[in-house]
Amino acid sequence: MATGKINVSVDNIFPLIKKFLYSDHEIFLRELISNATDATLKLKHLTAIGEAKVEYGNPIIEIKADKEGKKLHIIDQGLGMTEEEVKKYINEVAFSGAEEFLDKYKDSGKDTGIIGHFGLGFYSAFMVADKVEIITKSFKDAPAMHWTCDGSPNFELKEAKKGDRGTEIILHIADDSTEFLEDNRISELLVKYNKFMPIPIKFGTKTETLPKPEGAKEEDPAPTKEVDNIINNPVPAWTKQPADLKDEDYKGFYRELYPTQFEEPLFNIHLNVDYPFNLTGILYFPKLSNDLNVQKDRIQLYQNQVFVTDNVEGIVPEFLTMLRGVIDSPDIPLNVSRSYLQADGAVKKISSYITRKVADKLASLFKNNREDFEAKWNDIKIVIEYGMLSEDKFFEKADKFALYPTIDNTYFTFEELQEKIKDNQTDKDDKLVILYASNKEEQHSYIEAAKAKGYEVLLMDSPIIAHLMQKLETSKEKISFVRVDADHIDNLIKKDDTQISKLSDEEKESLKTNLEEVISDKGYTVQLEAMDSESSPFIITEPEFMRRMKEMQSTGGGGMFGMGNMPEMYNLIVNTNHELVSEILNTKTAKKRERLIHQSLDLAKLSKGLLKGAELTEFIKRSYDMVK
Ligand code: ADP
Ligand code: MG
Repeated sequence: MATGKINVSVDNIFPLIKKFLYSDHEIFLRELISNATDATLKLKHLTAIGEAKVEYGNPIIEIKADKEGKKLHIIDQGLGMTEEEVKKYINEVAFSGAEEFLDKYKDSGKDTGIIGHFGLGFYSAFMVADKVEIITKSFKDAPAMHWTCDGSPNFELKEAKKGDRGTEIILHIADDSTEFLEDNRISELLVKYNKFMPIPIKFGTKTETLPKPEGAKEEDPAPTKEVDNIINNPVPAWTKQPADLKDEDYKGFYRELYPTQFEEPLFNIHLNVDYPFNLTGILYFPKLSNDLNVQKDRIQLYQNQVFVTDNVEGIVPEFLTMLRGVIDSPDIPLNVSRSYLQADGAVKKISSYITRKVADKLASLFKNNREDFEAKWNDIKIVIEYGMLSEDKFFEKADKFALYPTIDNTYFTFEELQEKIKDNQTDKDDKLVILYASNKEEQHSYIEAAKAKGYEVLLMDSPIIAHLMQKLETSKEKISFVRVDADHIDNLIKKDDTQISKLSDEEKESLKTNLEEVISDKGYTVQLEAMDSESSPFIITEPEFMRRMKEMQSTGGGGMFGMGNMPEMYNLIVNTNHELVSEILNTKTAKKRERLIHQSLDLAKLSKGLLKGAELTEFIKRSYDMVK
């Protein structure tokens, strides 16, 4: 029997481990199962290359909770440790056996999937245990060893009786950590961290129903048997080759990842690179709503099939954090700050690789099945539009497949749209005027007015669309986006047949005075325009610039300040060629004129959705009076 001092420089490392090194005590189990997995994978490798002359078999890892004894056991059938190895790998805290193994078997060992240093590794056990034992028997011909440590730097090492190869770690769970003896809590951890680890993990047993024997009666119960409860899928889809997977397999894996998601994903992207960094994974495009906030933190990050986190901020470009799926890469540094991550060269490469793969996938979907792509557009546009806004590289690619649907569901690419409207939708400066609506219902009368004149009206209703339009206007030549209610169509788009006002200058002067006397609301600027007699007499418009700035401010970014307090500014456009306007001008009694103006203004407000509250009540009363 040997006793000695664990070789650490500070005497009191254990309280430190416990309090400061990990905020998440629960990761101890992930660390110990990772070590058990490594021990098994190492043995697999050594038997494969003939260095270990033992039968590899079908090893599993077992987790056993002993609630009465307050002990948690992690048992593996891996390569075990000799006395020398325990001294070297366990007693030297700063020494990683995984690193040494990978170093030694550099060429043959690089695809073994060995997990190795996650952080503090084995010693994280002391976050939840006040005493830890290791009983281990090497695959080599050497006596089994029993190591015990009570949380002080003093350990004890003696020979043990253990016949079969492998290692058993026994944690004497501390009084403040008894949650880790509860079946539910353990299951929760195993599902969270170990669901896709490469060696089968057993936790308890379960009852399996067997087929009824031949000749059994209807009422006879089916026979059952107790089988190992294996909690993980050791060969998850992302570790396989894309060529070996069918659409059904991808969908099945999605359900495995998100058992509570009932909606099927729209499509997936299989990631697979090994140079200049190592990364595998599957990303899914889910159906996305317009709510940007509820759908974050869904992609799961793994390292060698061990779950690390579901916060991939800094690793995946922001706009893709709305996707789902897994990314597995041993090249992403862990336990470092987000700002460090973003500056890390490998992480930058990973991020731009993912962006490129997503853009390429979308481009091929667009090219190969445009109809289907159009059908999915509404569910994926938010990601694409967000990506175009935030990543220039993505913008370049997406500009070729991003779609601009019209109110009547015709989908144009930007280039197609330009081609379609270039001859009859330009303004005085020959700028292309792209008309759009953000709400079919609210802007209905304006949409109809534009359509009546043969113009295309797009439906642009994403929450960030104002930002994207701004970006398109600055990156493309001579275009401007104008919402249908931003001005009167005839003021926006150059026409050959300019209308001449039927009113003389004096008449206009007196009309304007009349109107301004009645309309006391300072938020409206009266504007007289000569339009065709078919156009509405009164139209309320809200200039594009102001409205868009406000929208941009409310959806973040834009860098605008002070805009929040801006009053609403509207133009009241009065069509001097309309019959009703002539009537207003020629009415003899001031009282009747006033009533006509009020009524017309209210109708214009109603059509813009601005008539509310007391004004609406009064309008309804006045209307009844007029029709009775
Ligand atoms: P790392 O996993 O990064 O090497 P750890 O602190 O987790 O660091 O483990 C230290 C070393 O202890 C391992 O590299 C391995 O050599 C040894 N070890 C730990 N657990 C086991 C185990 N279950 N079976 C065999 N060796 C183990
Ligand atoms: Mg480890």
